[in-house]
Amino acid sequence: MIDLKQQLVEWRYHLHQYPETAFEEVKTSAYIAEELKKMGLEVHGNIGGTGVVANLTVGDGKGVIGLRADMDALNLNEIKDHPYRSQHPGKMHACGHDGHMTNLLGAAKLLSERKNFNGTVRFIFQPAEEIGKGAEAMINDKLFERFPVDEIYGLHNMPNLPVGTIHTRPGPIMASEDNFVIRIKGKGAHASSPHMSVDPLVIAAEIILALQTIVARNLDPIETAVVSCTEIHTDGIRNAIPSNVEIKGDTRSFKLEVQKLLEDRMRKICESICEMYGAECEFEYTHEFSPTINWDECNKIATMAAQNIVGEKNTNSDCAPFMASEDFGKFLETIPGCFVFLGVKNEGEELIPLHNQLYDYNDEVLVIGAEFLAEIVQIRLSK
Ligand SMILES: [Zn+2]
Ligand SMILES: [Zn+2]
Repeated sequence: MIDLKQQLVEWRYHLHQYPETAFEEVKTSAYIAEELKKMGLEVHGNIGGTGVVANLTVGDGKGVIGLRADMDALNLNEIKDHPYRSQHPGKMHACGHDGHMTNLLGAAKLLSERKNFNGTVRFIFQPAEEIGKGAEAMINDKLFERFPVDEIYGLHNMPNLPVGTIHTRPGPIMASEDNFVIRIKGKGAHASSPHMSVDPLVIAAEIILALQTIVARNLDPIETAVVSCTEIHTDGIRNAIPSNVEIKGDTRSFKLEVQKLLEDRMRKICESICEMYGAECEFEYTHEFSPTINWDECNKIATMAAQNIVGEKNTNSDCAPFMASEDFGKFLETIPGCFVFLGVKNEGEELIPLHNQLYDYNDEVLVIGAEFLAEIVQIRLSK
């Protein structure tokens, strides 16, 4: 019989070779559905686009646990030369979602063989995590009406944490992400005649600096937020004062109140500065990712599962939060659950960050991740 690790490696190398990006995970979801069916699970596809849900019921227990993995890759060219390198030019699994899918397939295999619980497990494979739209698409497609769950759990591999360690925390663990566009309409003129213009570039410079006062002077210093202007575009002629300037950027925070404060103060600053100089202002602010906020009870369960699988010394139940964003936060808005980080860094090896063209999931944590997810079910739906 093929052993578990060998099976997981085979699955991951296949998924790694055929990376697909947001909402295009067609081959990926078909492959996953096929493997889940071979385990005897009841499989449903096309949920929120390419999403897949597989159900496994043992006994007559009423409890239902959801376990979730993300399926999408990134628009990057893989540069590491290994036998299972990406066969889709310009796309690669640089965030380790190939590993997450394999961890979850592994958990499905373990639970369907062991049947050591009483209740129902739903294996949820979601599309489009990287753009923060897949969870919402599945929820809008009646995911939880069709397949209700009491609690939901998920994980992300972390290249800066030692291999085989599991880290989590109660409360906020990953930030929200909002995007903004500020359009300033002034009056263009010859570069030599500033008195005939309303210069939107000078106004933009003042806005960019003033936006930094929100975190420094409006936000309670105990709270956390980031406001970053990341792009500036003008009409683009060297010897003309432009008529239009567009500033784009991104904000991060952990709480809805802070998110609201950032949006309100930004709008006020942009509109007021533009008005002061006689320019028109258009301020656009969009919510891209919800903050990922772990539920206390579920954090305790995840911690217990981690301790059972990797031991107490390799479990951190109160790690530092991470300012990046994660689509799993959308599920946690309404469903109790917990998200954890799975360390993948081998000692002495160079750190390759997520989203790097050399990134590759560490096969050493394929079984650990699968056992950890299965353990949550065993604890929560104990016979
Ligand atoms: Zn990513
Ligand atoms: Zn990711």
